[in-house]
Amino acid sequence: MIDAAARPARAHDLQIAGLVPLSSVDWPGRLVATVFCQGCPWDCGYCHNPGLRDCDAPGVVEWAEVEALLARRSGLLDGVVFTGGEATRQDALAPAMRRVRELGFAVGLHTGGAYPRRLAELLPLVDWVGLDIKALPEDYDGVVGSAVGGARAWDSLELLIGAGVDHEVRLTVHPGSPQAATAVEVAWRLRAAGVRAFALQDARTEGTSPEFRAEARAWDVAAWRARLAALTHEIGAIGFPSFVAR
Ligand code: SF4
Repeated sequence: MIDAAARPARAHDLQIAGLVPLSSVDWPGRLVATVFCQGCPWDCGYCHNPGLRDCDAPGVVEWAEVEALLARRSGLLDGVVFTGGEATRQDALAPAMRRVRELGFAVGLHTGGAYPRRLAELLPLVDWVGLDIKALPEDYDGVVGSAVGGARAWDSLELLIGAGVDHEVRLTVHPGSPQAATAVEVAWRLRAAGVRAFALQDARTEGTSPEFRAEARAWDVAAWRARLAALTHEIGAIGFPSFVAR
């Protein structure tokens, strides 16, 4: 009998927390199916998928269901986006991506860049990456709860830009956060690193923890709207070929 821990990971090993059969928002300009991968090593206060963080939780969707969906939607879907949680946490992601390509679909990836070495192996398999850069490297501990997270995420950014893969880099901000205070500097550093498409995202409260929603009730919404408008204006002047505030 083959020891499961010793054999190479297969697409069927992917811990899948959910499958959205049709999305027009997860990969701008493409119609995709979205695969939610279970588990994430980080702990962002504004996480709107806290149920996906547990790395030990088993998957609830079989890989065979993904392939069956793709067989039914051939010619209707452009591709598959793998998201999370943190999709790059799993060894099974690479074989799953290969399988999607074999079936004739494009591959998109959402990641926070927590595993740069694995991302380097995945980049030849992806057509587009949505990379969350969560803060300046030195602020990551306070944002994701990992002191090494900043180095990993910014290393991932360098790998992504170096590989020339189509991308959108996202920064999510909310009142009182370090990344709101430094958003313009983050954006300048991203542009200097070669980022071509940037999105400034206003953190949403739906699906977040009770603690985050309690914090949000104390926000001065009018002041935050004005701050976001000012950030949008300043970042818009940096000159990204593509910039959106959402
Ligand atoms: S990286 Fe994403 S999935 Fe992980 S805790 Fe942060 S927001 Fe949630």
